[in-house]
Amino acid sequence: MSRYWSAVVHGLTPYVPGEQPQIANLVKLNTNEHPYGPSPLALAAMRAAADEGLRLYPDPNAAALKAALAQRHGLLPEQVFVGNGSDEVLAHAFMALLKHERPLWLPDISYSFYPVYCRLYGLSACTIALRPDFSLAPDDYLPHPGGERAGAIIFANPNAPTGRLLALDGVERIVAGNPDAVVLVDEAYIDFGGQSAAELVPKYPNLLVVQTFSKSRALAGLRVGYALGQAPLIEALERVKNSFNSYPLGRLALAGALASVADEAHFGANCQRVIDTRAWLNDQLEALGFEVLPSAANFVFARHPAHRGADLAAALRQRAVLVRHFAAPRIDAFLRITVGTPEQCAALVAALTEVVERVA
Ligand code: PMP
Repeated sequence: MSRYWSAVVHGLTPYVPGEQPQIANLVKLNTNEHPYGPSPLALAAMRAAADEGLRLYPDPNAAALKAALAQRHGLLPEQVFVGNGSDEVLAHAFMALLKHERPLWLPDISYSFYPVYCRLYGLSACTIALRPDFSLAPDDYLPHPGGERAGAIIFANPNAPTGRLLALDGVERIVAGNPDAVVLVDEAYIDFGGQSAAELVPKYPNLLVVQTFSKSRALAGLRVGYALGQAPLIEALERVKNSFNSYPLGRLALAGALASVADEAHFGANCQRVIDTRAWLNDQLEALGFEVLPSAANFVFARHPAHRGADLAAALRQRAVLVRHFAAPRIDAFLRITVGTPEQCAALVAALTEVVERVA
């Protein structure tokens, strides 16, 4: 703390990301990174871009990347916004589109950055409890007759950290039922088995879909995320972004992201490998007595009836396996386990077998 700090800083409780320890032979299943590398074409494009051209500023409009993303999603370039990871895109959306007099509605169990942004930008939030099976019920997000309406709505789909998917007709019900409110669907994990709401963008002026290159495209280190929505929503994001930083992405990130979008074959094959390993991991955990929530993400969320989540996470850590545990209401018993390579998942299962059987 310092007397030079502004009052804003005193009030902040920053988001604490999953740890990134530099320990050899660690089985790192705590931050939902992709276990396989990015597209070789993306790596080659970044190497090619690493030349004397870097003395020049990048394209402030990221036009080539927006055009490629628009084409991939069947939209127009003016319906695409890009930023430094979806965290930054979300931050701009909180300020530009989600802050209203009426509160922001969001699930009680959700991506933990959302409350951080609420505090940072002074949004009032109204949390809506997920159902006992941790599913999100669209009806809970419709305006109550004669009652409160949402200022805006945000949820992750698949949800984080539960991994549960809301089917597209459920998403549409929420968007269609709240024409006065922006509905932001955070699809960081959509490519591991979900159907994106991007196809609804032309139909609904209040829908904003946010995606990232960090998970399914294995480019978390590059920091590229984007939003899809009708032009007025995108323009609001551009206004906020331009007030912070006139260059959304550097030259290397633009080159790598563009080549990644073009390499559909690598993308599809590597997502499928994760989906296949997820099914195996699910079965193994159930055989050990875990309850595993149905996951459409690159992680699973599981609890054991006889063990505390924090104890399991600590015991795994001692065996050089990192998973994520949230000391939060309702989910304290769970572990969030990233789907790694088959070898990493086998190491996790072996370590868990030791722990679960020893204490049983
Ligand atoms: N949304 C959700 C639901 C996430 O889990 C994450 C990753 N922690 C993000 C957004 C941010 O991802 P990135 O900034 O790497 O795009």
